[in-house]
Amino acid sequence: MPSHPTIAEAAPSSGLRWHNGFAALGSAFFTELQPTPLPATYLVATSESAARWLGVSPPWLRSEAALQVLSGNATLAGMRPLASVYSGHQFGVWAGQLGDGRAILLGETDAGIEVQLKGAGRTPYSRGGDGRAVLRSSIREFLCSEAMHALGVPTTRALSLTGSPAPVYREEAETAAVVTRLAPSFIRFGHFEHFASSGRQAELQQLADYVIDRYYPECRSAEATAHLGGNAYAALLQAVSERTAALLAQWQAVGFCHGVMNTDNMSILGLTIDYGPFQFLDAFVPGHICNHSDHQGRYAFNRQPNVAYWNLFCLGQALMPLIGDTAHAQAALESYKTVFPARFLARMRDKLGLLQPGPGTDADQSDGALVDALLQLLAQGGVDWTIFWRRLSQARASGDYEAAGDLFLDRDGWKRWLLSFKERSDPTDQALAADLMLKANPKFVLRNHLGEEAIRAATRGDFTVLHTLQSLLERPFEEHAGQDAHWADFPPDWASTIEISCSS
Ligand code: AMP
Ligand code: MG
Repeated sequence: MPSHPTIAEAAPSSGLRWHNGFAALGSAFFTELQPTPLPATYLVATSESAARWLGVSPPWLRSEAALQVLSGNATLAGMRPLASVYSGHQFGVWAGQLGDGRAILLGETDAGIEVQLKGAGRTPYSRGGDGRAVLRSSIREFLCSEAMHALGVPTTRALSLTGSPAPVYREEAETAAVVTRLAPSFIRFGHFEHFASSGRQAELQQLADYVIDRYYPECRSAEATAHLGGNAYAALLQAVSERTAALLAQWQAVGFCHGVMNTDNMSILGLTIDYGPFQFLDAFVPGHICNHSDHQGRYAFNRQPNVAYWNLFCLGQALMPLIGDTAHAQAALESYKTVFPARFLARMRDKLGLLQPGPGTDADQSDGALVDALLQLLAQGGVDWTIFWRRLSQARASGDYEAAGDLFLDRDGWKRWLLSFKERSDPTDQALAADLMLKANPKFVLRNHLGEEAIRAATRGDFTVLHTLQSLLERPFEEHAGQDAHWADFPPDWASTIEISCSS
């Protein structure tokens, strides 16, 4: 028997048909290869919502055939597995060629969804790595991908998590896992940097044309390019800048710290991608560094919006041979500087239940000041980000702000802020505003210590913690009565001792 057989579709069938748009780009962009099988694989978790999006049936997902495909032990007829090549800047420094070192794109469905295995073995781009992912970090990626989606934050999705007893060596021996990721495309800024850095303009243009035709067709319109000298590639840079700005506004609003915002971890579609040492804030510490390998704090929480701009600048540089005129590239990038603050303010208005911009011409300025004053108070008190916003939402519903105020040591500061908030909020829209807030401020986020609990139990072979957490994170804005005490509470003291590094 071959080591990775192709499975003929039988009942229950995946029902998928393959189109493989990226594979049509040609061999300059990837290496075709098969995933490396793993022994004694088992299913850890699946996402029904991701399965619905992909269009596979629950019976197929539970089948032995699915387990083999989703672990990299077999492929379906029509798939064209490949690892793509990219480069990138890591921690501000040019890192040269990288590529899918442990991710293998199985193919793209005819509905335009790419299916990728993470941890399915070595590729020509593995450099010194083993091509594997450990169960620990794969649990975090699986849970967070689906949690972010449920929070309304653009992200790659996770269809499944499978495991194997095969040992994988990090700081200590761990076991292997594979996450099946889904996205319309896994193309990163680094894909463009790769061809630009080696002066391969034909491939650079081919890639840019592919991305525009597939994902940003509006960039070819006269309207999108009018202020950019009619240049579609400048319009692409602007469109990516705007999507990235919107993404960063959502990260900052929900308190998500990515941890490794290298240009090879930036999606051309503005999706959250590559969940490594990420963290949801517990206490609001603006300069929080979630990645223990990030000694300079380059990717600290409050630096993320600026880093995204820096990364977009790298993308702009890569696209320069196609854009030509520096002024057009600058104009395209400039959009980030207006879209990010506007989207962030919009998110904060949602979180505050402010249904309309305030009256007057300086509404943005005065709402901005209200937000800034609150952020300052939250930072001063090291107040828990998620719990504060949830309590504020409940206070808006009940009119009782005591539980929200209890979170602050600076009672006078809080009272002053509350007064200005009440002046700004329209009392007639209380129910509507509270409803908006309860849909903007989640009760459940994947705090580090909760992920850690799921990991510790899973390491003992108990997946119930993971499954419970998954079900709460799939509906993070709902109350889930009875679950508060453990899953929506403050972090325990030991949470601050968890060290999450790039080791995964
Ligand atoms: P990351 O920091 O996870 O974004 O990874 C940076 C680069 O290292 C990417 O090219 C990855 O594919 C590669 N990489 C990370 N871990 C491994 C591994 N265990 N085996 C092979 N390549 C890896
Ligand atoms: Mg990466």
